[in-house]
Amino acid sequence: MTTVLETRGLTKSFGGILAVDNVSFSLAKGELLALIGPNGAGKSTCFNMLMGQLQPSKGTVHLNGRTITGLSPRRIWRLGVGRTFQITATYSSMTVIENVQMALLSHHRQVFSVLPYAHRMYRAEALALLQMVGMADQAERHCAVLAYGDLKRLELAIALAHAPDVLLMDEPTAGMAPRERVGLMQLTADIVRERGVSVLFTEHDMDVVFAHSHRIMVLNRGQLIADGSVAEVRADPRVQEVYLGGGTVFKSDEVQDA
Ligand code: ADP
Ligand code: MG
Repeated sequence: MTTVLETRGLTKSFGGILAVDNVSFSLAKGELLALIGPNGAGKSTCFNMLMGQLQPSKGTVHLNGRTITGLSPRRIWRLGVGRTFQITATYSSMTVIENVQMALLSHHRQVFSVLPYAHRMYRAEALALLQMVGMADQAERHCAVLAYGDLKRLELAIALAHAPDVLLMDEPTAGMAPRERVGLMQLTADIVRERGVSVLFTEHDMDVVFAHSHRIMVLNRGQLIADGSVAEVRADPRVQEVYLGGGTVFKSDEVQDA
């Protein structure tokens, strides 16, 4: 199993608050890894350190064996850590396919606006990516008129345009209806399998987490309290305590037990 991304003793404090406390984990090639935990557990802080948005107080981050701690977000992104945002980052005045073409141009280090023939560049490649996320039939629509779930799928295509080794998805399904959530994670799982990309994601809906993750890590008050298979994490009494205490119950169990 090849390790793609790894953290060692990752720590971040904000004044007196230890938001992330000595977190060490690794993400393998082709793995779909969930990071769960109650609100304020430190998940987003962790993500921000992985993508270079925040500098760790202590600890290191490694990508394909190379230390990337302290590098700029742009540099880390160039080295192969892609991301989708909690807030969708598309250009609403452009069409769906133009957004993907622009991402491909950027990936190939060209600038959209200075090229009069830009609208012809990487069209086939952009269409293939749209096909992959089920958006090819909406290629010529303006982003402004897209449904929220479709914007999220477009966002995934844009992230994939940069051919990342690792994709970081912090609450990718936020604001989506339950059925759409399942759909987006199913799509992500397919992409992981087809492209061998590694994904680290956070998600509130436990049904989605249990259905699609290869592995689950649980963060509570900045500390990693569990890291294992779906079955191991579900059976972990500390995890149940955190979730029962926080009011989030493992819904699948309830349904099965009812
Ligand atoms: P999660 O994403 O798991 O909900 P966060 O990483 O957003 O958790 O937050 C973890 C803790 O760090 C919380 O107590 C939060 O209030 C605190 N925190 C996050 N970002 C900052 C910041 N920029 N300044 C001060 N405190 C922060
Ligand atoms: Mg968060």
